[in-house]
Amino acid sequence: MNRLNSEGIPRDQLGWALSQPSIVNHYRKLGKCMLCLRPGVNEAGVCEICNTLLESPERDQVQRWIIGIGP
Ligand SMILES: [Zn+2]
Repeated sequence: MNRLNSEGIPRDQLGWALSQPSIVNHYRKLGKCMLCLRPGVNEAGVCEICNTLLESPERDQVQRWIIGIGP
């Protein structure tokens, strides 16, 4: 697996990142939000605050992770 840098995922790449299980699992394991690096994330690797700011289609992608369907 490629090592991800210590920065968060740029907002415009979130849709792509959510389609990559290796990236989602990386941030879940890290316990930090893939966008803002705040600690405490959901099953999609996104924190509560960023989660509430999301709009479709990313919002739907996050929901798929939360209910366990995946990318
Ligand atoms: Zn966040």
